[in-house]
Amino acid sequence: MPTNRKQVLIVGAGASGIAAAYALGKLPEKFDVHVWEKCGQAGGVATTEKIEGPGDLIMNDGVQGGCPTYRNTLNLMAEFGYSTTPVHMMISFGKGQTAWTNYSKTPLIDKLKDEIKRFGGTLRLINKLEFFFIFVPISQVLKWFGYSKQFCYEMVFPLTALFFGTGNQTPNVSAAIVARVFLDDDLRLFDYDSECFLSQSPEMFAFPPLKHMYETISSKLGVDVDLRREVTSVIRKEDKVFVLDALGNEKVFDEIIFACDAETVLKVLKDPTYLERKALGNVHYYNDVTVTHEDDEYMEKHYELHKDVDQYFIRTDPTDQSKLEMSFNLSNYQPQLKSTDRYIYQTIFLDDSTKNIWTMNEINQGKIRFTRWWRQFSHTWRHFAFTVPLMRYLQGEKHTWFCGSYTLINTHEIAIISGLAAAFRLGASYPFPNDKLARKQFEQYLLVIHGKPAKLGCNLATLKSFALAPFMMIFVGFALLFQFFLRLFGKD
Ligand SMILES: Cc1cc2nc3c(=O)[nH]c(=O)nc-3n(C[C@H](O)[C@H](O)[C@H](O)COP(=O)(O)OP(=O)(O)OC[C@H]3O[C@@H](n4cnc5c(N)ncnc54)[C@H](O)[C@@H]3O)c2cc1C
Repeated sequence: MPTNRKQVLIVGAGASGIAAAYALGKLPEKFDVHVWEKCGQAGGVATTEKIEGPGDLIMNDGVQGGCPTYRNTLNLMAEFGYSTTPVHMMISFGKGQTAWTNYSKTPLIDKLKDEIKRFGGTLRLINKLEFFFIFVPISQVLKWFGYSKQFCYEMVFPLTALFFGTGNQTPNVSAAIVARVFLDDDLRLFDYDSECFLSQSPEMFAFPPLKHMYETISSKLGVDVDLRREVTSVIRKEDKVFVLDALGNEKVFDEIIFACDAETVLKVLKDPTYLERKALGNVHYYNDVTVTHEDDEYMEKHYELHKDVDQYFIRTDPTDQSKLEMSFNLSNYQPQLKSTDRYIYQTIFLDDSTKNIWTMNEINQGKIRFTRWWRQFSHTWRHFAFTVPLMRYLQGEKHTWFCGSYTLINTHEIAIISGLAAAFRLGASYPFPNDKLARKQFEQYLLVIHGKPAKLGCNLATLKSFALAPFMMIFVGFALLFQFFLRLFGKD
């Protein structure tokens, strides 16, 4: 190997870190890549656990699945011999009078039919004026357009929560992002239906056991993956990056890719720049918990339970309608659980500052199989106003790169794309150039989060990259002004 290879450290072996290592690992003559991961396994929040009880069952207890548009994820998996299992998404919203589903007509759909019809026009307007609506929370827009509370709380918010896992922050999700769920060709999950609201049970996929998948991938990357090695301090000086692990060992690198959460970056970076503090400090994290259980009674009490059909269940808290809880019937979703006679549910409780209204204590203790805490960021309008547009100004400064789903949207696909993008900026090739959709999504990410075209030259992407540079700053300025007025009127 040449001795002048670039020494690169990737902090974190979640989806984004593994994707970055994969792309850089293809060029061993140029890069000496090291991944330091604080946990004992790769995959980050893509975890697999044993389920207590008969049958020796395992489940993915964090990340569960995705849509066929996750082309980068699917390509990466295929490289290592992994594939997914298709599932048709069946969702049960509400309970009793407020029940509705994406596969049958219910009295609630009939009752709200006029608003459902009108909502299509609102979505198109939001989409056309995205520049403005990116700053406006969906709850505010629905208020402006005179939608009923029932339509907001029983239909729009639960659906948004389902897609983005935003739970209790759902009313604050940017309206532009909600419109994209329905109208963006690449992101669209549901087709809006002017009569039934959702017209179909879209095809999704379930991941194979993710622990095993990430174990295999990380062992075949051809790069050093150090598990149980936590980064505790990063100092950037004299054109180098000095990194300390939890045992006090120091190593010097040429470049560092942070593939961990934004909170950790700010904790370990000893000299964060002003922009790093602003952009990363603006990512808001919440403590959430998932409880995996076999409590049919709990499910019957809080959801409209169609045991052999639904995968997702969403309930709106009757005492505070802005709060949501979600459950999954893993046995209808994960292929390895389908043929068993056990019904394995998982309920997620979001934002522990509201735990006084959680129904977690109602789950029969004897029927709980596994509990795990998570720290997740939320997609409020502030995320899109003060983090996403600033990321491009951070990338590559002081030999430091940032990837991870928090840089844009909390999905596995964005995590993978973000890792490939960081590697690409360091000189790796984009690994799936023949997959048109995969490449398009990668190039869009590159343009927004790195401010760079995939190919510099006389092309539209280059033009866009130049045009977007001042625009993003103006955008942030406008957002600050907007926030100022919100605060002035006591709305923030
Ligand atoms: C409960 C849950 C369910 C989800 N379900 C889905 C789903 O079904 N479909 C979907 O598309 N998306 C889902 N997501 C979102 C998406 O999968 C994640 O956003 C994505 O996998 C995150 O990958 P990442 O690399 O950005 O971060 P992470 O997976 O969080 O990886 C970061 C890694 O950095 C490591 N690390 C942190 N600090 C240090 C340090 N100091 N030193 C070394 N290592 C460190 C961590 O241990 C971790 O392994 C879910 C997320 C959660 C939390």
